Amino acid sequence: MSELWFEPTPDERALLGALGSFLTDRVVPTAAERDASGAFPHDLVRELGELGVFGLQVPEAYGGLGLPTRTAARILEEIAWADGSLGLTVASHNSLATGHLLLDASEEQKERYLPKMASGEWLGAWGLTEPGAGSDAAALSTRAEEADGGWVLNGTKQFITQGSVAGVYVINARTDPAPEGKPHRGISTFVFPAGTPGLTIGRKEDKLGLRSSDTAQLIFEDLRLPADALVGERGRGFYTVLRVLDGGRVGIAALSVGLGRAALEFAARYAGERRQFGRPIGRFEGVGFQLAQMSTDLEAARMLYLKAAELKDAGRDYTLAAAQAKLFASEVATRAADAAIQILGGYGYIKDYPVERYWRDVRLMRIGEGTSEILKLVIAKRVLERYSA
Ligand SMILES: Cc1cc2nc3c(=O)[nH]c(=O)nc-3n(C[C@H](O)[C@H](O)[C@H](O)COP(=O)(O)OP(=O)(O)OC[C@H]3O[C@@H](n4cnc5c(N)ncnc54)[C@H](O)[C@@H]3O)c2cc1C
Repeated sequence: MSELWFEPTPDERALLGALGSFLTDRVVPTAAERDASGAFPHDLVRELGELGVFGLQVPEAYGGLGLPTRTAARILEEIAWADGSLGLTVASHNSLATGHLLLDASEEQKERYLPKMASGEWLGAWGLTEPGAGSDAAALSTRAEEADGGWVLNGTKQFITQGSVAGVYVINARTDPAPEGKPHRGISTFVFPAGTPGLTIGRKEDKLGLRSSDTAQLIFEDLRLPADALVGERGRGFYTVLRVLDGGRVGIAALSVGLGRAALEFAARYAGERRQFGRPIGRFEGVGFQLAQMSTDLEAARMLYLKAAELKDAGRDYTLAAAQAKLFASEVATRAADAAIQILGGYGYIKDYPVERYWRDVRLMRIGEGTSEILKLVIAKRVLERYSA
């Protein structure tokens, strides 16, 4: 019988199988400990690096796996299923910092950075958000000015994943004034290694969930960069930022499905074992229907992210599909994690069981890389364009 298009191919199955054993044996058993300590798992990152997951879409010529988006997203789903924090670490490294360099870096920049990023030796941090510029990212106030044949960077970036543990930083800054009514123009992107003088790691965030993913503020004070630190075309960086975010949204949708699935699997097992009123609680329609809804929602969410991934791999416009996938997956996965707590009753609310962690972890997915509200704006614009005369 031939494979259905959305089922893993034999190659994907082999890759997911090898990764699955590592996740089950090494990641799942210690996820709660990392959540409690908030410690960044340098050792696990090193081991995962050997499996190639830090170069998911980096061409083999630069030491990556060169996978299509569809397979990369399946892998992110699996990692998030095992540990949401690790899922965000791998997703942001691949989709944001690496994704931006894959789209716009020069050959020299690719040769310098991608091999160490693909092996996991250098994690990537991507800086767009600032204290005063979140959803309205084009309002960023970090400045890069030309000086002595290079650039001088000043400003602050907020909530940067891998902020304090990265080996390489990909940072968006204003280099030129925006023409009236065109705030997206005049923004450029720079790449530089950790340890560059003028970079200070600010506050490390103490988060609700995804606690062993690193989130920090970055402060640039007269940070001097050579001319060749500029990535892509001067003043046109924001156009690449939007493309990077499209790719990132497929990844966040996949992380959402992974976390939602972990909640569903745990709740379903529990509902089959926990007995009240003389029978397993899963036999009560009120519980069984919740499981049915969770399962259906998550299957649909996976279809949406696979559709976006397929469009991306086919070189077609996938902005709408990525926004829809991220919006839907993050919303249904949050509901699934909430339902899992309900199904476990009081046990769902205590830390002996993982479902409260899934619920805390998945909550970010409705916020990062475009809040649900911003995604609805993106989707509404496309829908109006499609159906307006
Ligand atoms: C754990 C974590 C990791 C992150 N990692 C990174 C990273 O690696 N790199 C990076 O650059 N950023 C990162 N971010 C930042 C993240 O992308 C932003 O938090 C997000 O884009 C929202 O921006 P904000 O927090 O400033 O909220 P705001 O933009 O202030 O939004 C606040 C509320 O207002 C709503 N809102 C805003 N504008 C509108 C509008 N026009 N219409 C309707 N509602 C609106 C929003 O939907 C939201 O509900 C991270 C954030 C977190 C928490």
